[in-house]
Amino acid sequence: MRRRSSVIPLALALIIATPLEGSAQGRPVDWPALARETRQLLGDYLRVNTTNPPGNELAGAKFLKAILDREGIEAQILDSVELGPGRANLYARLKGNGSKKAIALVHHIDVVPAAAAYWSVDPGAGVVKDGYLWGRGALDMKGQGIAHLMAMLAIKRSGLPLSRDIVYIGNADEELGSTGAIVFVNRHPELLRDVEYLITEGGDNQIDSSGRVQYFGVGVAEKRTFWQRLTVRGIPSHGSRPTRHNPVPRLVAALNRIASYETPLRATPGVQKFFRDIARLYPEPQRGWLSDITRALGDPRAKEWILSDVYWNAILRNTISLTGLTGSNKTNVIPPEATADLDVRLLPDQDEAEMLSILKRIAGDTAVQFSTLLAPKTPLENPVDTDLFRAIEKASARAEPGSFVTTRMLTAATDRPTYRKLGIITYGLDPFRVPAEESQRGMHGNDERISLENLGFGVRFMYDILRTVQ
Ligand SMILES: [Zn+2]
Repeated sequence: MRRRSSVIPLALALIIATPLEGSAQGRPVDWPALARETRQLLGDYLRVNTTNPPGNELAGAKFLKAILDREGIEAQILDSVELGPGRANLYARLKGNGSKKAIALVHHIDVVPAAAAYWSVDPGAGVVKDGYLWGRGALDMKGQGIAHLMAMLAIKRSGLPLSRDIVYIGNADEELGSTGAIVFVNRHPELLRDVEYLITEGGDNQIDSSGRVQYFGVGVAEKRTFWQRLTVRGIPSHGSRPTRHNPVPRLVAALNRIASYETPLRATPGVQKFFRDIARLYPEPQRGWLSDITRALGDPRAKEWILSDVYWNAILRNTISLTGLTGSNKTNVIPPEATADLDVRLLPDQDEAEMLSILKRIAGDTAVQFSTLLAPKTPLENPVDTDLFRAIEKASARAEPGSFVTTRMLTAATDRPTYRKLGIITYGLDPFRVPAEESQRGMHGNDERISLENLGFGVRFMYDILRTVQ
């Protein structure tokens, strides 16, 4: 922080030291230089192979720790014994004055495998080409991990006074078993005790065709996985002589009833707000419909239009997707049992026991046995009336004038409920301007990449959020 002359009268000094956003500014940041450094470090991070399985997150954690050590930020590699060979979580903390509670920036170090044959570049090489940095993890989510890191480093270097500690966490195994976050939360609750806010993946921004952000979607809620296996047992015999003990037709009849069942429509308060917020992007009559989603769902024309969007449909109800199916593996054998797997996703406030009894009632056959393959995590719903949400709104307006911030519900699952369980307000936030086609293709797909311009944007946006929430 720049020293102020002691001859300035105290009252004036207080005015000078109280800028608009509620904290001192620190020394100016050289953004172009920071963007170049960010590009270099993300390239290096992408070259650390943390493909899960096996994960090998220990190498990623060591890479991050070396940078943090160099910058004088205390960092620890944790849980390497509990997570198994080659695996680890990373934890670091940039100290503030402790007058407010801490904010945590969390990413996962592991990435999903890449099928190199389908890529235009080597997915592990972290190459720069056509204005993009390419590689597995560029978007999901080493890019965010580096944006978090660089924003924290920029704050440290600029000498910005902090009222909140900034906690930096890299977790193992988000892409497979979530063991990294679970072990971290179970073993180190004391490291999280003073954390009020947490930012990680699970946000979703909407970008228009010219590359401008229409809205920044803060992920405040997510649906809960409630996977079910249905089993019918019968008596095996020869397919040439049909019996009434064939489990396959019995299961199929139950599945048919489930497949034609329409789950009730219901907008949670966060989802109502989402539709109200985005209404401005549509002409009438759609604008009016979205402004009052609950009423619109009672209007057949509006309802048909709304539910034709697969995302909107999924945030307005519990969903049931029939996915796995097994019977006999030989055409001439009536099998001893038949099974079906249902990918059931619950709204955050849906009671799972109630949903199970609904499923059993719809199946309508006591011969169908239900077993839970994956039980729901803690419900994830977060308040919006917070200093962090307001800081995101202010930083968004500066980053992209004319944009707005809204509340997204994620239909998939993240590590967020693991942290939310401790009472931490946990938001999904993507600091980049990535068009939907780009993330659709790259995340878990081929040719994952992030534009260099976007990298610079993301670091500055994160920095502004962290500065504003102080
Ligand atoms: Zn991810």
